Amino acid sequence: MSTRIRSPEGNGIVDEPRARIVIIGGGPGGYEAALVAAQLGAQVTVVDRDGLGGACVLTDCVPSKTLIATSGMMAALDESADLGIRYGSGGIAGGSGPSGSGVPPGGTVSPRTSNAAATVDAPRLYSRVLALARAQSADVAGRLAAEGVEVRSGAGRLVGPRTVAVGDTEISADIVLVATGARPRVLPDAVPDGERILTWRQLYDLDELPRELIVVGSGVTGAEFASAYQALGSQVTLVSSRDRVLPQEDADAAMVVEDVFRRRGMTVLDRSRAASAKPAGEGVAVTLEDGRTVRGSHCLLTVGVVPNTGGLGLEEAGITADGGGFIPVDRVSRTSAPGVYAAGDCTGVMMLASVAAMQGRIAMWHALGEAVQPLRLSHVAMTVFTEPEIATVGVSQRAVASGKTDALVVKLPLATNARAKMQGFRDGFVKLFARRNSGMVLGGVVVAPRASELILGVSLAVEQHLTVDEMAHTFAVYPSLSGSITEAARRLMQPADDD
Ligand SMILES: Cc1cc2nc3c(=O)[nH]c(=O)nc-3n(C[C@H](O)[C@H](O)[C@H](O)COP(=O)(O)OP(=O)(O)OC[C@H]3O[C@@H](n4cnc5c(N)ncnc54)[C@H](O)[C@@H]3O)c2cc1C
Repeated sequence: MSTRIRSPEGNGIVDEPRARIVIIGGGPGGYEAALVAAQLGAQVTVVDRDGLGGACVLTDCVPSKTLIATSGMMAALDESADLGIRYGSGGIAGGSGPSGSGVPPGGTVSPRTSNAAATVDAPRLYSRVLALARAQSADVAGRLAAEGVEVRSGAGRLVGPRTVAVGDTEISADIVLVATGARPRVLPDAVPDGERILTWRQLYDLDELPRELIVVGSGVTGAEFASAYQALGSQVTLVSSRDRVLPQEDADAAMVVEDVFRRRGMTVLDRSRAASAKPAGEGVAVTLEDGRTVRGSHCLLTVGVVPNTGGLGLEEAGITADGGGFIPVDRVSRTSAPGVYAAGDCTGVMMLASVAAMQGRIAMWHALGEAVQPLRLSHVAMTVFTEPEIATVGVSQRAVASGKTDALVVKLPLATNARAKMQGFRDGFVKLFARRNSGMVLGGVVVAPRASELILGVSLAVEQHLTVDEMAHTFAVYPSLSGSITEAARRLMQPADDD
């Protein structure tokens, strides 16, 4: 058996007896690449240190979304009285201040705001989260084994342009892919202790829900955990260094989410930068740069990530990391060293599991001589899993407002959608961007429960260069939230009525 391989020295494609691929890191960037390479007939070894599936499956994406499955249910219950649901008496008052009531034995906290009797069993919730992550990791292992991929446990490092060492063993390769991911950034004066001051990777080791959670950082990760713990019953304070939460997201969408946060009782401290977090008595004290102090039972740090690129032997392979330690790559995942590719969070390119996986696949398609479409970041669909969710794809309002993109925009509030009324959803909207003359759909924003599922229609339109006419002629179910997407397209068919 032979495999085609792109000659690292030039652009030619040669036949190799069986191309040897070594991948460092078993997260989505690494394992998706391994599957593609195995499918193309290469001999593949994945070197992984902490468990297949990577941080994505074991500590970050999968656990957080599993937690959010429960918090979403709690949020729905919290609003269910309006839908005519009545619960029996019960529910225990949650803590309401730094010296408020303790968490009941077993870590059970009740929702603060409703008359609902539902409570959260924290040990059971966390063991579900961790079991699901382990099961997902086992699925990845099974899939790789079924495709004949060799897996080596341990830390891998480059000891030459195309040689990877794992412990005392050296493996030579035709192609190396570095997909080592990233880890939580911590502040010098807020050192996680795993008990009161936490990174998101330490949350599931607690045996209780935080009674008063101070979330430092209001980017995607901070907003998602703040939203989730608020719904689970914690009293949440969100410390945001900017003048609104989710500063990188669509401003209208972020405003909806911030309004919901405040309405549900969250304290949002805008323009407040945390200087330090220290244990204080039974809890924690977070000092802000302006001198104020916020007290709570726990502090969660969500202040970004740093790449796992130290000690990887990049220099030996001829790769220079950028100032932040990330590995520069082009749109087919090539590093500056011939034959060495990189994918995922360690490259600093749009840090999403879906992007990591696509970078990894593209690397292998390219390396193994397949036709390949370079990575197109403008087509990436993404979601902030707050309650409600924010899903986006394509051009942004910022690009339109700055004149970078000439587009018509329409925004339909969810409150006018029949299904939303039936379901009791008030917060959210559908926004659609289309090119001024051609009507080609350029992007959209959906703020709604399950916006992550609704965005696919807009994503398809962007990817396939559909026009608003074509979208408007597409049937949506009545009544449905997706009906607002086709309705938005219809509005954009009207003569230039640009917002
Ligand atoms: C809280 C949170 C929630 C998220 N939710 C989402 C989401 O909903 N959707 C989404 O698309 N993205 C989400 N992300 C982002 C997503 O988790 C990352 O983009 C994704 O994990 C990147 O995959 P990766 O393969 O680059 O790295 P990782 O998943 O981090 O995997 C890298 C692997 O490499 C291993 N490794 C590191 N160094 C070495 C070494 N020297 N030798 C061997 N192995 C090594 C690591 O142990 C790890 O197993 C979330 C991130 C966070 C923090």
